[in-house]
Amino acid sequence: MSLHIQTPLIESRPLSLIAGRSVWLKLEALQPCGSFKLRGVGHACQVHHARGARHFVSSSGGNAGLAVAYAGRKLGVPVTVVVPETTTERAKALLRLEDAKVVVHGSSWQEANELAQTLVGPDDAFIHPFDDPLLWAGHASMIDEVARAGMKPDAVVLSVGGGGLLSGVVEGLERNGWHDVPVLAVETDGAASLHAALEAGQTVELPRITSVATSLGAKRVAEQALACAQRHPVESCLVSDRAALQACERFLLDHRVLVEPACGAALALAYQPEALAAYRNVLVIVCGGATATLEQIQAWLAAQG
Ligand SMILES: *Cc1c(COP(=O)(O)O)cnc(C)c1O
Repeated sequence: MSLHIQTPLIESRPLSLIAGRSVWLKLEALQPCGSFKLRGVGHACQVHHARGARHFVSSSGGNAGLAVAYAGRKLGVPVTVVVPETTTERAKALLRLEDAKVVVHGSSWQEANELAQTLVGPDDAFIHPFDDPLLWAGHASMIDEVARAGMKPDAVVLSVGGGGLLSGVVEGLERNGWHDVPVLAVETDGAASLHAALEAGQTVELPRITSVATSLGAKRVAEQALACAQRHPVESCLVSDRAALQACERFLLDHRVLVEPACGAALALAYQPEALAAYRNVLVIVCGGATATLEQIQAWLAAQG
């Protein structure tokens, strides 16, 4: 039994009309903890649990930490999440709702992560947010579900943070024999670590993250994400924060689902009529995200000036 659910695959009437072609949505926002992360994290936690892990540790105050907390509660394994002081009250409350122990440490993620590493004992498992083959294998299951539904897309649109989702989707496309299906990999302007890696021909560390799409805020992508983008057809696309935020508002009206700006990035591309012009059937991964409220999205949009 997996910890994630099989999510709906629906054809979006509003997005299809805008694009003038069929736009399909894989609704990962409907996973019990609000994002696709549960697929990979749930799989990794189950494997570690089967190997005897008695405690899970995470340093993510975002959707990865939430997925670890959910998986731990379901498996009966205690979870500790170390987060920096900048983490919102809402994020901490969501973690506690899943019975995770929340430790607040340091002014940045780096410091929180360093403390988290010291808490990993011999019988414990540290669950990385994006850089682990177990995660990619779990994320790939979303493409298996699309294949089982009998829908072969001409292109897949998804968001990229550290590149775990990209790595998993490419793994899923490959294991279903869909080597010819390109991926449109979307980042916001201030969090474009895959874009920078593709330009440089190697992974590079961004000096800072300036996007409101905090779930895309990995300064450096996983080596696997770059490798996937080099061996599989992957097109790097950039959208503004404003476009990602507007896509969140529009998607809420169109489909009554609230997602984070990280997911709004992929949706923003799908809302641009010309962006999908080369394809007939497009699959958009609606990766979701539980950490933003509508008030926060509206405030960010107002601050765009
Ligand atoms: C983690 C996350 C992403 C980015 O996934 P990566 O595997 O880091 O590329 C995008 N959207 C949401 C909502 C996320 O939680």
